Amino acid sequence: MVTRRSIIAGMAGLPFAGLAASRFVHAQESPIPDLISTSAGDLVIHPVEHASLVLEWDGKAIYVDPVGGADLYAGLPAPSAILITHGHGDHFDVPTLEAIAGEAPLLTNGAVFDQLPAALQAKATALANGEAGTILDIPVRAIAAHNTTADRMGYHPVGVGNGYVLTFGDTNIYIAGDTEPHEDMLALRDIAVAFLPMNLPYTMTPDQAVAAINIFKPGIVYPYHYGDSDLSPLETDIDPGVEVRLRNWYPNGG
Ligand code: ZN
Ligand code: ZN
Repeated sequence: MVTRRSIIAGMAGLPFAGLAASRFVHAQESPIPDLISTSAGDLVIHPVEHASLVLEWDGKAIYVDPVGGADLYAGLPAPSAILITHGHGDHFDVPTLEAIAGEAPLLTNGAVFDQLPAALQAKATALANGEAGTILDIPVRAIAAHNTTADRMGYHPVGVGNGYVLTFGDTNIYIAGDTEPHEDMLALRDIAVAFLPMNLPYTMTPDQAVAAINIFKPGIVYPYHYGDSDLSPLETDIDPGVEVRLRNWYPNGG
């Protein structure tokens, strides 16, 4: 039986399906829900705010960098697992974790692991850049996340923060964390969905993002962690094989 849901899920795997005029999809115009077809069922993407997001797949809810208090997550399933990229306050907030974590395992970088209260640390695992592991049996690789521009190195030094590649069935999802493009990012291949930050002075510019996207060519890009950046370069300069999905990551203002 072909249901509306299965049609939409199928469409979500096709970069341009359902788009009349532009592949630059504004949230309020988008006919496509945030569904990604994988070999083991739909992955549902919930942008929450700024750097916080939730991925639902196979009955599990994977939270990434949840901050902002428990109320922000009230409409979402409780976390099955929590990933944290690094220790900045827009990614890591102990009171939020204590309020929502329950029994969910945590995966963090080393610096955050060391800052966790004992009860959370007991459920946590740290990965260093380049290390691989699993969470809820989902394969995870920690990808370096750092600045590369001389006068920004103090924000995200080399070897501290993580991005993550999660593999859901046959589908790789890359959450970059706070980073500029670097060789480990540019070497990624077969990424179905990439979440890329683009705000100055902390991460990359939209032009840097465009250049990186056109090299590692994720299927779909979600700009996130963009603040008040002008995202228009993503409208005009992206390789036509890549779909850009703009969503409102600042539902409560900026
Ligand atoms: Zn940061
Ligand atoms: Zn940040």
